[in-house]
Amino acid sequence: MTDVAFSESEERRALRREVARLARGYGREYFTQQARSGGKTTELWLEIGKNGYLGINIPEEYGGGGGGIGDIAAVCEELAAQGCPLLMMVVSPAICGTVITRYGTEEQKRRWLPGIADGTRTMAFAITEPDAGTNSHNITTTARRDGDGWVLNGRKIYISGVDEAANVLVVARAEDAKTGKLKPCLFVVPTDAAGLEARPIPMEIVSPELQFQVFLDDVRLADDALVGDENAGLVQLFAGLNPERIMAASFSTGLARFALEKATAYAQERTVFQGPIGAHQAIAHPLAQSKIEIELARLMTQKAAALYDAGDDLAAGEAANMAKYAAAEAACDAVDRAVQTHGGNGITQEYGMAGLLVAARAGRIAPVSREMILNFVAMHSLGLPKSY
Ligand SMILES: Cc1cc2nc3c(=O)[nH]c(=O)nc-3n(C[C@H](O)[C@H](O)[C@H](O)COP(=O)(O)OP(=O)(O)OC[C@H]3O[C@@H](n4cnc5c(N)ncnc54)[C@H](O)[C@@H]3O)c2cc1C
Repeated sequence: MTDVAFSESEERRALRREVARLARGYGREYFTQQARSGGKTTELWLEIGKNGYLGINIPEEYGGGGGGIGDIAAVCEELAAQGCPLLMMVVSPAICGTVITRYGTEEQKRRWLPGIADGTRTMAFAITEPDAGTNSHNITTTARRDGDGWVLNGRKIYISGVDEAANVLVVARAEDAKTGKLKPCLFVVPTDAAGLEARPIPMEIVSPELQFQVFLDDVRLADDALVGDENAGLVQLFAGLNPERIMAASFSTGLARFALEKATAYAQERTVFQGPIGAHQAIAHPLAQSKIEIELARLMTQKAAALYDAGDDLAAGEAANMAKYAAAEAACDAVDRAVQTHGGNGITQEYGMAGLLVAARAGRIAPVSREMILNFVAMHSLGLPKSY
């Protein structure tokens, strides 16, 4: 492939091939078996870590690979494209890793980043609350000063992977000593802290990764649990949002590629009238449409990552939102078409296509919903009035 401005570097393409090879050794069967038996993907997670892929975006001095979001997004996409979509890739290295790299103190970076990079000390991320939902300005989890430390109280919902995480980066609000107003602050809370309780939420998603309600009742933290500057919580929080969207887009495009590949292979083989079903345009065209939609979403995702890694946060924000939107739409359609291509086999566990539906569908809801992206684009890209 010729290197033009629109293609990834040979180094990035080699990374994709290596991760794909590693993930193929596990594959969809492993992933669904773990999901259905209540197992975990710990071996896979630690192997990605050992090979340096999990911490590829974390600086080398803290045990990472010194790469960018484009690299970790490529890892996330290739895992999903082999049928192993890992939500914790979005959360631990990309959101938590970025926020701590950018805003943590030297001591905090040394304490938390190496374990995020090698996968032994995964970090979950908790912002969503039952009564605030999408409107994270309304969160009520509070952090109160108590001597040298902090006391946290509140409740979070849909928090992924708390059972697999050593820590959780919690978005709370602390009282500003000068104004008395509440301002957002980020705290690293050990998952075994006294007063933290995590209850799994029964979800329809076929994945070994679970979502939890997290209750924080007088959770006492040391002073240095606060990440970075007490007065810059919002800016710090926003630092994690573009990586989150780029990773979510990669999760979706990977999943979409997996479904499309399976559907195409099935359409080549399955014969009911003359020739394989893929010879009928009613089957071929929707798959071709998905191929186009996936490639468009991948292109925008790579653009968003390139802008982010070049330090253009503003342009990256618009591109990351668009990429996340396009990728979720592409994934929902690709999976639906893959189910249809498989006929009755499309809803069997053996073929596993219907088992992808909820994971793909979640991409339209989390980490930011399609409606909020449309709100963003209407307002920031088109200059329309703020609608919420
Ligand atoms: C699989 C999964 C994993 C998750 N993991 C995490 C995690 O690890 N950490 C974490 O903090 N959170 C996590 N979440 C939560 C996720 O980020 C939220 O579900 C999401 O932000 C939507 O919030 P909500 O569910 O409260 O929906 P609501 O805010 O109640 O919204 C409901 C619907 O109304 C729409 N809506 C609301 N306001 C507007 C408006 N102004 N204009 C147009 N439409 C609007 C929304 O788009 C949505 O369709 C996860 C969710 C899922 C499904």
